[in-house]
Amino acid sequence: MAKLKILEFPDPRLRKKAAPVATVDDALRVFIADMFETMYEAPGIGLAATQVDVHKRLLVTDVSPDKSEPYVLINPEIVEKDGVTATDEGCLSVPGYYEEVERAEHIRVRFLDRNGDETEMEATGLLAVCIQHEIDHLDGKLFVDYLSEAKRQRIRKKLEKERRYAAVAL
Ligand code: ZN
Repeated sequence: MAKLKILEFPDPRLRKKAAPVATVDDALRVFIADMFETMYEAPGIGLAATQVDVHKRLLVTDVSPDKSEPYVLINPEIVEKDGVTATDEGCLSVPGYYEEVERAEHIRVRFLDRNGDETEMEATGLLAVCIQHEIDHLDGKLFVDYLSEAKRQRIRKKLEKERRYAAVAL
C-alpha cells in the first residue's frame, strides 16, 4: 500500500469533475486500499479520489473512532434526501479550517461496492454529511464554496501564505 499526496485548496485540480468508474478491477481495489491508508493516516473521516488527483467517481469514508466502519462508494448517487443539519466541517484539502455548513440530515445513496455490485445504503448524521461532502469533491466543489466570498478568500490567502513559508523552510 502507498500513502497518496492530498491536494490542497486552491489547487485548480480540486475543481475537476470526476468521470464515472467503468470497471471495478484489482487495480482499482489497490487504489481503494491506498485511499483508506491515506485517509486513516491523515487522519480524516472521508476522502474523495479527486483529492489525490485521480478524477474517478470514488470515495472512502469511516466516521467510527476505531476504523471499524469503512465504506467505499463507487459512482455514488444520492437518490433521496431529507431534513437539514448544520455541522462544523473541515477538509483534508483545506487544513486547519472548520466552518458550519448545512446539508441534508438523512440520505439514501446508490453506488457500486468494491466488487462492482450495485447497492444502496441509508445514512444519517455525520456519515450522511461526510458522504455529501465527498460527493461534492467529485463534482469539483469544496465546503468553502458554501461560505461567503470574503471568508473563502481569507482562507485561500492564509493557506497560500503558510505554503510559501513552508517552501522556504524546506
Ligand atoms: Zn474534503
